[in-house]
Amino acid sequence: MHSLRSSGLRILFLPIFLVLSQSSVLAQAIRLAVDLTDAPRNVYHARLHIPAKAGELALVFPKWIPGNHRPSGPIAGLTGLHMEAGGQALAWERDAVESYTFHVKVPAGVDAIDVALDAITSDASAGAGGPAASSNVLDLNWNAVVLYPQGARSDDVEFQPSVTLPSGWKFGTALPVSRASGDTVEFSRVSLTMLVDSPLIAGVHYKRIELTKPGETPIHVMDLVAESDSDLAMKPEGLAAYQKLVAETGALFGARHYRQYHFLLTLSDQVGGHGVEHHESNDSVASERMLLDPSLGMIFGGLLPHEFVHSWNGKYRRPSGLATPNYQEPMIGDLLWVYEGLTEYLGNMLAVRSGLWTPEQYREALAGTAASLDHRSGRTWRSVEDTARSVQMLRLLGPQWQNWRRGLDYYPEGELIWLEVDAIIRQKSHDQRSIDDFCRRFHGGESGAPKVVPYSFEDLVRTLNEVAPYDWASLLRERVAGISTHAPMGGIERGGWKLVYDEKPNQFTQAIEKLVKFADFSYSMGFTVSQDGKLQDVIVGSPAHGAGLGPGMRLVAVNGRKYSPPVLRAALKTTPGSAQPIELLVENAQFFKTYSVPYRDGVRNPHLQRIPGQPDVLGDILKPLTH
Ligand SMILES: [Zn+2]
Repeated sequence: MHSLRSSGLRILFLPIFLVLSQSSVLAQAIRLAVDLTDAPRNVYHARLHIPAKAGELALVFPKWIPGNHRPSGPIAGLTGLHMEAGGQALAWERDAVESYTFHVKVPAGVDAIDVALDAITSDASAGAGGPAASSNVLDLNWNAVVLYPQGARSDDVEFQPSVTLPSGWKFGTALPVSRASGDTVEFSRVSLTMLVDSPLIAGVHYKRIELTKPGETPIHVMDLVAESDSDLAMKPEGLAAYQKLVAETGALFGARHYRQYHFLLTLSDQVGGHGVEHHESNDSVASERMLLDPSLGMIFGGLLPHEFVHSWNGKYRRPSGLATPNYQEPMIGDLLWVYEGLTEYLGNMLAVRSGLWTPEQYREALAGTAASLDHRSGRTWRSVEDTARSVQMLRLLGPQWQNWRRGLDYYPEGELIWLEVDAIIRQKSHDQRSIDDFCRRFHGGESGAPKVVPYSFEDLVRTLNEVAPYDWASLLRERVAGISTHAPMGGIERGGWKLVYDEKPNQFTQAIEKLVKFADFSYSMGFTVSQDGKLQDVIVGSPAHGAGLGPGMRLVAVNGRKYSPPVLRAALKTTPGSAQPIELLVENAQFFKTYSVPYRDGVRNPHLQRIPGQPDVLGDILKPLTH
C-alpha cells in the first residue's frame, strides 16, 4: 500500500541505472579475499579477481556510505593498489576529478583482472571516529576493501567473499558462511549491497549470546568481542532486557525485514566508538566496561535499541533521497529528522520498554536533550532540516561554537518532534491510537528478507493521517523547516511534564561528564569546560558570552582560586542574592585577562517535573507492549 508511490520513484531512477550499468557483463562474481592477520597493525590486505572484458574499465571505491549519509568512504586509507591481468602488471590512473575512480585498460585475451589493495584502518574508517582494530578486536567494513565497476547498481554486482582471521580469533557477521577451515572463512555469494551491509567483527575474546528462544525464528544473536574475557560477563538482567527488546520490536512493528539479526557489539576503549545500522545487523562499539559498570550501562543503554530500530526505520523504510542505486550517487539528507530523529525517539522509548533504562533515567536523558536544544543559539538562523542537509559538513566537528553553528540536531530535535507527534496522536484519538499504530502501518508489512521501500514527506503525512487525522504537514513543516528561538517542548508538556532547572545534578549528564571528562555549566554560566580548563563551547547570549568569553580560552581561576569544577560550582552557589559578579581569570593565546560575569541564578541542572493535574502520558508511552 505505502509502497505504490515508492515504486514510482524506483522507476524514475531506472533509466539512469540502465545507461550507466556495466555490471551486466559480470555474469561471474567478483572474488574477494581479505587477509585480516595484520589487523593489530591496522592494515587489511585485499585481493580481488574482477571479471572484465578487453577495453577501458573504470573501477570505483565506495564513496557515499549508508548510515554515514555522506561521502565518507575512507579513500585516504586505500593504499598498495596494484592491478594485473594474465600475470602482466596493468598501469592504472586515478580520475583527475573524481578521486574515488580508477581507470585501467584491460588487455585483449583475458577475462578478468586481479587487484591487490591495502586498507589502512587507523584513521576514521567508515562509521567510526578512530582505529578499526586493536591488539584484540577488529571491525571490517567491506566498503573499505572493494572496487566495483563504475555505474553498476550495487544490487547487481555479486561478490564471493572470504576472510583470513588472526590466528585463533572468533568472528560475528550476518553474512551466511559457506565454509570455515582453520582461520579462513568463506561466505556465500552476495550482492555488493548485502556485502557492504554486513560488516564483520572478530576478536581474541568472543562470546555468542542467543536472544531468541530455541525454535523461534528469525533468530537474534549478540556477537560480543572485547579487550578481555571479563568484559564479556553479561548479567542475567541485561540478557533479559535484550531478549525483551527483541520481543518489544516484534510487538511494535508487527513484522521483521531480515532473515536473522546480529547485534555485533565491540567492547573496547581502544577503537573508534560508533553505532552503524544495517538490515540484518548493527555494528556498535561501546566502552570496554559497559556490561560491568552501571553508569556506563546507562550511557550506552540506548545504543543497541537505536541501531536495531534502524532495521525498520532507515533500512527497510528509507527516505527516497537516501535510497541510492550505488555508493557513488550523492545522498540527500533532508528527511534525516525521520531516519535518525524517529529512530532516536523509538530507540530510547524501547530502552525503557525493554528494561535497559528506568523511566527516571529516560526522563533525565530527555531533560538533558530538551535543555541543550533550548540553548542552541543557532536556532535563530538555521532550521533542523538545514542541519540534516548539512550532514557532510557537520559530522565529526568539534564542540567550538557548536551552539551557534548547530550540530547533527536532527537526531535530538527529531526525538522531541516525534514525541510531540505521539502525544498529539494519543490526544486526538482519546488514547485509542499512538505512534505504535503508525509504526505498524509504516514499518510493518510482510516479514522476510531485506528490501528497501523508499518514502517521501507526503507518504509520511499520509500514514500519519490514516492513524489520526490532523494537519501533520503544517506541524512538521513548521517544526522542521521553521526558525524558532525555543526547542519544541510540546511533546513533553502534552506528556504531562515540564522542563525545570535546579541544583540537583542530572544523573545522565553527570555520567557523561565522568566518561568524557568535561564539566557542563551550560545552563548557568553558559559554557562547557574540558578537563584541562579549556572552554569547549560558550553559548551565544549566555552570561559568559555577554562578558566576552569564547571557546578555546582556558579557565585559570574563579574568584581568585585555581579553577576546578567543584570550585566553580561552589562559587555559583553563592550567587543567588549576591550583587558580586563572578571573576574568571582566563588564558587566551598566551595572554591573561580577568572577566567579570554578572550572574545570580546559582547552579542549574535540567530535569523533568510533573505538571500537576495532567495525566502522565509520557508514563503511558514508556509502558511495555509485551509481558
Ligand atoms: Zn542512527
